[in-house]
Amino acid sequence: MSRTDATPEHTKLFINDEWLDSVSGKTFECINPATEEKICDVAEANEEDVNKAVQVAAAAFKRNSPWRKMDASARGKIMMKAADIIEQKASFIAKLNMLDTGKTLNECVASVHGAVVVFRYYAGLADKLGGKTIPSDGDFFTYTRAEPIGVCGVIIPWNFPITLCSWKLGPALACGNTVVLKPSELTPLAALCITAAFAEAGLPKGVLNVVNGFGPVAGAALASHPLVRKVSFTGSVVTGKKILEMAAKDTLKKVTLELGGKSPFVLFPDCDLETASTICHNNVMFNNGQVCCAGTRNYVHADIYDEFVAKSVSCAKARKVGDPTDEGNQAGALISEPQMKKVLAYIEKGKAEGAKLECGGERIGDKGFFVQPTVFSGVTDDMTIAKEEIFGPVQSILKFTDMEDVLDRCNNTEYGLAAAVFTKDMDRALYMAHNLEAGMTWVNCPNISSQTPFGGVKGSGFGRELGEDAMKEFSHLKAVSIKVSSKNS
Ligand code: ADP
Repeated sequence: MSRTDATPEHTKLFINDEWLDSVSGKTFECINPATEEKICDVAEANEEDVNKAVQVAAAAFKRNSPWRKMDASARGKIMMKAADIIEQKASFIAKLNMLDTGKTLNECVASVHGAVVVFRYYAGLADKLGGKTIPSDGDFFTYTRAEPIGVCGVIIPWNFPITLCSWKLGPALACGNTVVLKPSELTPLAALCITAAFAEAGLPKGVLNVVNGFGPVAGAALASHPLVRKVSFTGSVVTGKKILEMAAKDTLKKVTLELGGKSPFVLFPDCDLETASTICHNNVMFNNGQVCCAGTRNYVHADIYDEFVAKSVSCAKARKVGDPTDEGNQAGALISEPQMKKVLAYIEKGKAEGAKLECGGERIGDKGFFVQPTVFSGVTDDMTIAKEEIFGPVQSILKFTDMEDVLDRCNNTEYGLAAAVFTKDMDRALYMAHNLEAGMTWVNCPNISSQTPFGGVKGSGFGRELGEDAMKEFSHLKAVSIKVSSKNS
């Protein structure tokens, strides 16, 4: 096999430990965004398939099922083994991921290794989810215990199919839940391989099931199924709101939503401008800007504004975009034609509304969905490109002079996922970090790690992924009280 060839091993639904065609026999095409060619056909789940998968997951969660009776440490052991298998197959999984996402092979390899770290982290946490003893009033011995919720409907998007599998499956399984996973219809291939690794590692039948398919059919059937007790969703705000409605329609489900962002990155004159501008460039261009927590609003102090613009432009011009199989490229294709058109339309809007296009702004070639790294200066808060999530390689640079004013401007959005401050003054850094309305605030860095909670406030959603907090999202806390009697009988 060459450095970049890979033929998908799994293209069916995975239900009750079996690879199945869909009930309807329908399939959908999986397309390579870098070549616009078909990779393979994938089984397409409808409501019936989803129902089958949920029933199986509910049965696997029954009291006294092998999964429920299993020691937490044994769950962790299976997860460790799955992580080992994924690591051994990293190169193959990465190639598949490259094929259906259009990301560079290097990025995909990094995604697989990152997911392995996350799976191991949660494997280790599986037997550490303890409760507390509570000094409740009266003669009681009161304690809490964390219990699994039940069937979890996990719906993931196309921008990080491997990473988000690990962020959700890791804590869901470590807590002892069962799962029905719906990958994005655009990027099902890596999730199927990860599922196969869990099956090979010895996960009991029915604990992890996968239904490939479209959002409004398979996704909606999962989010509204009465036997699903928890929905964990990452995707757009529009879909997130629909999920929340569906999750409350029949039975009431616990929900985690990780939605979009329009993260402000604020640069003060005393920052290390060389490092900060490189970080801002890499952050906003990473994965072609198809990143919910990307720093898409760069607020730069007037004293360093021109220099920052110049550095950003030179970074963007030097960035190599093209064939994902070419190791020299730093970015591949955008996910799809509609996404590319959407990004190009935002760029046109930026120009029309008066932002200065410093570089980029065009499609690259006419095959595959490649867009030039694009930098706008002179962006103001009222412009569409400063308000809406573009999800493309577009850096918007805004000017500020006053800290209180820039704080208000940063917070004047429905989004609240991430925010960053670049300064050497730690008083100012802390003041900013504490006053920015975001689920995560970073000082002189972006930082995402398996141990650190990730998630947003306001329209960016609620609930946390990663870290120990994600275990709380996938478990219930039960309080047990025992009457302490003084009777000596
Ligand atoms: P994007 O706009 O970035 O594609 P979406 O929020 O539409 O993001 O998609 C994220 C995930 O949500 C995908 O797996 C998609 O299939 C799923 N999805 C889309 N629409 C719905 C829906 N109405 N109900 C449930 N899931 C959906």
